[in-house]
Amino acid sequence: MVGDGASFLGKGEAVSGGGEAGARRVGVLLPLPLPGPYDYRSPEGVVLQPGDYVEVPFGPRRLAGVVWNDGAGDLDFGRLRSVIRRFPVPPLPEINRRFIDWVANYTVSPAGQVLRMAISVPAALEAPRVTVVCRPSGKAAPAGFKETPARRAVLALAAEGPPRAAAELAAAVGCGPAVVRGLVEAGVLEAVPQSSEEASVQPNWTLPGPVLSEDQQEAAAALRAAVAAGCYSVTLLDGVTGSGKTEVYFEAIAACLAAGRQAVALLPEIALSSQWLDRFTRRFGAAPALWHSELTGGQRRATWRAVAEGRAGIVVGARSALFLPYADLGLVVVDEEHDPAFKQEEGVIYHARDMAVARAWLGGIPIILASATPSLETQVNVESGRYQRLHLPDRHGGALLPEIQVIDLRRQKLEPRRWIAPPLRRALAETLEAGEQAMVFLNRRGYAPLTLCRACGFRLQCHSCSAWLVEHRASQRLQCHHCGYAMPIPDLCPNCEKADSFTACGPGVERIAEEVAELFPQARVAVMASDTLAGPCAIDALVRRVTEQDVDLLIGTQIMAKGHHFPMLTLVGVVDADLGLAGGDMRAAERTYQLLHQVSGRAGRAERPGRVLLQSYMPEHPVIGALASGDRDRFLEAEAQERQYGHLPPFGRLAALVVSGPEMEAVDRAAILLGRTAPRSDQIEILGPAPAPLALLRGRHRRRLLVRAPRSVVLQPVIRAWLAATPLPSSVRVQVDIDPYSFL
Ligand code: ADP
Ligand code: ZN
Repeated sequence: MVGDGASFLGKGEAVSGGGEAGARRVGVLLPLPLPGPYDYRSPEGVVLQPGDYVEVPFGPRRLAGVVWNDGAGDLDFGRLRSVIRRFPVPPLPEINRRFIDWVANYTVSPAGQVLRMAISVPAALEAPRVTVVCRPSGKAAPAGFKETPARRAVLALAAEGPPRAAAELAAAVGCGPAVVRGLVEAGVLEAVPQSSEEASVQPNWTLPGPVLSEDQQEAAAALRAAVAAGCYSVTLLDGVTGSGKTEVYFEAIAACLAAGRQAVALLPEIALSSQWLDRFTRRFGAAPALWHSELTGGQRRATWRAVAEGRAGIVVGARSALFLPYADLGLVVVDEEHDPAFKQEEGVIYHARDMAVARAWLGGIPIILASATPSLETQVNVESGRYQRLHLPDRHGGALLPEIQVIDLRRQKLEPRRWIAPPLRRALAETLEAGEQAMVFLNRRGYAPLTLCRACGFRLQCHSCSAWLVEHRASQRLQCHHCGYAMPIPDLCPNCEKADSFTACGPGVERIAEEVAELFPQARVAVMASDTLAGPCAIDALVRRVTEQDVDLLIGTQIMAKGHHFPMLTLVGVVDADLGLAGGDMRAAERTYQLLHQVSGRAGRAERPGRVLLQSYMPEHPVIGALASGDRDRFLEAEAQERQYGHLPPFGRLAALVVSGPEMEAVDRAAILLGRTAPRSDQIEILGPAPAPLALLRGRHRRRLLVRAPRSVVLQPVIRAWLAATPLPSSVRVQVDIDPYSFL
């Protein structure tokens, strides 16, 4: 909605005094992938400051942007178009602007594209709607005041409930609005303006937290001290699953709120963690401001505005919460810092943990990275002394870490079309008999990963991706896990036309659920995967059912590996511990370790001890060995050595260029041209171009180039110059991925 600029400016906010202030040149950054800010002139008599949110004409459109600088000056002043108006919202602070420039520079993205993440709710720039509400004035009625039944009813209602609009009061009582107006005129009710966004309750940091253990106290004290110091520091809060990391960093958040500053906690997949929110609300007496993709427009608007005005003390969100316009950010927490979900793979490609560290550095504030399985990057920073480390070695309340055993599938043969080996079957039976809960983990959605024609071997492929379709028996469809395309399972094989010939190979969670239901017909089984549960509410509902012991056996993918605290869950069975280890990804071992450790951490979190059974065909693999022995640090050391040897991150630098477009030939030509114009240097190695493993994704053909260099080389300017010197057709897009995590 485009409002009336003049009326806002007419309210006299920062309007310059003298006529000689005149119109000035300003550079306005727009939320578009443009090379830099565009020059405009300020409206006559209005002094614009860097950070002001303004509306400007752009072609035939009107856009919201931010005053960035004094302008480039390359266009005659007389030809500049004028800023239309300034929005009634506090300016974007300098630190936040520097952060946007920093991220743009680091990720080799246009600053406007980064700004777009910061002003993702343009509606929030408008003044919040103010409604007039009525409440009892407390004054006595004037002489001659007539009390009618309708007036009495309105007064009674106004006295008991929250202040309400006149029309609302009248409607509730069933009288005309004139009755309420009459009461206001008589002075017994008073009409007061109320912003629709002022009402929310703020977290209360003065509430007492739980009694902390000695280790927890020590860690909390160190974090509080870091907050009090109010300068840049990075602390790894390294504690086993269930050690109370959350409770400990809550203390740092309390200290930050006490200092009157804002805090942000980044969580992977926030929508999935209602347990976290419940705990926060218990600790601070109110819910935090939320920021994630499932919010409604109104919620986003309210949070954005509360953050910009400094009213929101704490924001909890997914990675994009980092780009909110904090008025005064004093603390950043990144929970599960190792989680791959922090890497954004589209648009501006960035790693939220790394950008969060940069934000803390720019703002001169502390940041806490929490994890039971820190990333190798973070671990190396701890060893070099760049980051501090606080350690919580034990589970809270004396709970023990689960015992981890490996089932060697080379000895324990599986029956045909069965995926649960006898030892796991026995353990499940024992657990159910004891009235406890068990979880069977397989990180694979659907019924079977592979569906083919028994007669001719034909498989169905997605038309827009280089990927096979996956059978989902619950929905009786074949689905592409990359673009979401789905189709019914055909009656006839499209290749050999044989009827009913499609057969499922290998297990997905749905198939495991089927097997478990056959093994334990009395058990109450639930499947937990992102596609069997429709959204966060369904996930919450299932989590609650598990907590209330409405479920005996939980079958799930990685979405249930994280964070959940199920006190009666004592057994975790991993169907295929080797699953993540295949493929050429340099982080395959690290990720598998982190994921399986996380899943194992769901077992035995309360009084009853837990155990974990890992089914594996390669028990001697270092990852399986490290899980079984619990020797995380030795495993990480070996991983570090391997990466160091290969000059791979964090010991060397990597960047990927993904060239994509709808026409294969154009993409190939562009990729080959980029290969030819690649920077030549002893230090920089260019690999490719080569077809990406997902050579076709959502209808776009993809080729990859990989850039590798020692740590001492700063890759961004090299890549920028390279791209600038290589003109490509507009049908082809090049995405730069600094520090790539995905090699698909
Ligand atoms: P982590 O984040 O390290 O996995 P949590 O913070 O989730 O651990 O703690 C695990 C469980 O123990 C939670 O239910 C938490 O409320 C409880 N807990 C941890 N520390 C304390 C404490 N000092 N007093 C009471 N309960 C605690
Ligand atoms: Zn597809």
